[in-house]
Amino acid sequence: LFITFEGPDGSGKTTQMKLLGERLASMGADVVRTREPGGTPIGDRLREIVLSPDNGEMMDETEILLYAASRAQHVREVIVPALERGKVVICDRFVDASIAYQGYGLGRDPEEVARINRFATGGLRPHRTYLLDVPAAVSRERLLSRALAASGAGLDRIEQKEREYHERVRDGFLLIAKAEPQRVMLIDANRTVADIAADIHADFDRLLQQ
Ligand code: C5P
Ligand code: MG
Repeated sequence: LFITFEGPDGSGKTTQMKLLGERLASMGADVVRTREPGGTPIGDRLREIVLSPDNGEMMDETEILLYAASRAQHVREVIVPALERGKVVICDRFVDASIAYQGYGLGRDPEEVARINRFATGGLRPHRTYLLDVPAAVSRERLLSRALAASGAGLDRIEQKEREYHERVRDGFLLIAKAEPQRVMLIDANRTVADIAADIHADFDRLLQQ
């Protein structure tokens, strides 16, 4: 089983991934938790390049290809081998993030971004995607308080972008959920951690029974 978590920054993906992973592990499943960009040594280096605010202006094409490159490595080095061994792979962001951020966010053709990512992934698709949705203002607030708490660790290059960009990203995610309701479960993430987890776990139990 290949499960992905998507949503704007500060939507609580990481927390929910951890809760689902722990629950599965306690049920005896062999769980691999991973993230993008990154998840491999090569991917982690690409992540640094793409997220550091200090590299000067990055061209859209470069950004699209760097995320896709990290993903290509991740799919082949980590995700597919784990799936072949029967593990449950839970991944923080995947192709939908590129369609939302690099497609809708940057204003580039989402279909073109999808095509590049079909090459990168070899066509691998998640069985289920949990899309944690929060309004841009809530996401912003959570990001800023997190950056403050992590003394010195400021916002990354993407997080620093203007509010309109983040609204396009959120709207892009909502369009993806609408286009693929079978795969993507849209979740109102402007609620408590426990309420969100309850929705995800109930859905996941149904998925296991199919
Ligand atoms: O999920 P996480 O916060 O670790 O993602 C790192 C950064 O990469 C975030 O700022 C996110 O907005 C950005 N990102 C992106 N395009 C992707 C995946 C992540 O801009 N395809
Ligand atoms: Mg983030």
